[in-house]
Amino acid sequence: MHTPQIGHHINGLPVHGHSPRTQAVTNPATGVVTGQVELASDNEVQQAVAAAQAAFPAWSDAPPLRRARVMFRFLELLHQHKDALAHAITAEHGKVFTDAQGEVARGIDIVEFATGIPQLLKGDFTEQVANGIDNWTMRQPLGVVAGITPFNFPVMVPMWMFPLALACGNTFVLKPSPLDPTPSLMMADLLKQAGLPDGVFNVVQGDKTAVDALLAHPDVKAVSFVGSTPIANHIYETGARHGKRVQALGGAKNHMVVMPDADLDQAVDALIGAAYGSAGERCMAISVAVLVGEVADQIMPRLVQRTQALKILNGENLAAEMGPIVTRAALERITGCIEQGVSEGAKLLVDGRGFDGKRAGEGCDNGFWLGGSLFDHVTTDMRIYQEEIFGPVLACVRVPDFATAVRIINDHEFGNGVSCFTRDGHVAREFSRRIQVGMVGINVPIPVPMAWHGFGGWKRSVFGDTHAYGEEGVRFYTKQKSVMQRWPESTPKGAEFVMPTST
Ligand code: NAD
Repeated sequence: MHTPQIGHHINGLPVHGHSPRTQAVTNPATGVVTGQVELASDNEVQQAVAAAQAAFPAWSDAPPLRRARVMFRFLELLHQHKDALAHAITAEHGKVFTDAQGEVARGIDIVEFATGIPQLLKGDFTEQVANGIDNWTMRQPLGVVAGITPFNFPVMVPMWMFPLALACGNTFVLKPSPLDPTPSLMMADLLKQAGLPDGVFNVVQGDKTAVDALLAHPDVKAVSFVGSTPIANHIYETGARHGKRVQALGGAKNHMVVMPDADLDQAVDALIGAAYGSAGERCMAISVAVLVGEVADQIMPRLVQRTQALKILNGENLAAEMGPIVTRAALERITGCIEQGVSEGAKLLVDGRGFDGKRAGEGCDNGFWLGGSLFDHVTTDMRIYQEEIFGPVLACVRVPDFATAVRIINDHEFGNGVSCFTRDGHVAREFSRRIQVGMVGINVPIPVPMAWHGFGGWKRSVFGDTHAYGEEGVRFYTKQKSVMQRWPESTPKGAEFVMPTST
């Protein structure tokens, strides 16, 4: 069967048929190949960067308010097309449609924040820092910046990057995941309809070849990356070696502590939603429940029952709570992790292996299906505790007290998100202060910060100095310039050989 070719978007136009390699794009619910995505060679990357470089002078010179108005029109179009975007996400990623709608909504938040760019770029001014001298700072765009994004949020994660980068006056090259490439082209089209000049936003589809070309390109001034930790580390080191500013967000192993005084109904709901939502393929998914004291015995039967009762269906079915795994390779990797957990001695209370795709709906027999899996008695020396599984597998660790819970979390190599369920204000305060993790929820299982706060983990969940979006994003996509000025009338006569001071 002929499937559509999914190409690039360069200089305001679709570009097809030039890339030497392609990769199949598959609907994970059915296993049906729905398209062939082109994988850019060095050549397409050069074209995209050249287009972005050519567009930079005029775009960076446009008043911030004009750039904001493009963002306002983009925002309107996103609202009109949000369900189309969500359907495209479900078709290539597999996540349930309502969750995909949520993803688009959280991306829209960032565009809303970016519409405030005139206020965010205002700068500081000090009158009379010395006699007749004023000093001010301004923030100017960097040039061409690149975004390299993962499969699990094909709309939201690019929107962590490009709305602010563009609003700040940069031009952009997006390299999305080849697993779900279509939403990136839809966003490029909406930006064009919003009046964004050609070349300001470009998409190159591809894999390592395209990424390496972007990292080596002298005209790419900054790289934002989101993906797994080994690749984030590689991007950070390689980008820095090429003199670029880099923010690289990596993998995670997010813990949720349940204290004995927690509302256990809420804690169970939170664990089930945060562990199995999006089939656990979220960097903020809860993959470890840390059950303190007697909580484990109280909570475990309920977790078993709820994990078994998950509605695992084709994501297009509005009743679905969990969809398929993104690829067959990912399914096999996750299945291997479950086997590993069993061999390490953890107690597998619910086994999601062998879930029959027929149960997920018509045409799903050949999809990439897995049920929710639940382990009890996981210990910190096990690989299923230490490594990111990125699938619908919840590991429960029993600890005697709060101090042990904090210690094991702080000892873990990742530090993306964390949560603590308690009614005790002192425990909540101590937890927030002492935990070595970038994003903390108190009775909130997935504490993804709002658009104006910025997103980022700690430890090996992030490489670089700034978090994504929020004011950190504005700082990342601009460089500060400080101007000191005086006029001839207030300039003293004669050369000054002494370090100037304000006295
Ligand atoms: P990935 O690291 O495999 O891929 C991310 C991007 O890097 C993709 O665009 C991919 O094409 C590219 N890439 C892959 N291999 C490469 C290589 N060898 N050289 C250069 N580029 C390469 O990640 P993924 O599987 O798409 O996404 C899942 C991962 O992303 C998980 O580890 C998850 O925790 C992480 N993630 C993190 C965050 C966060 O904010 N910290 C958010 C979402 C996802």
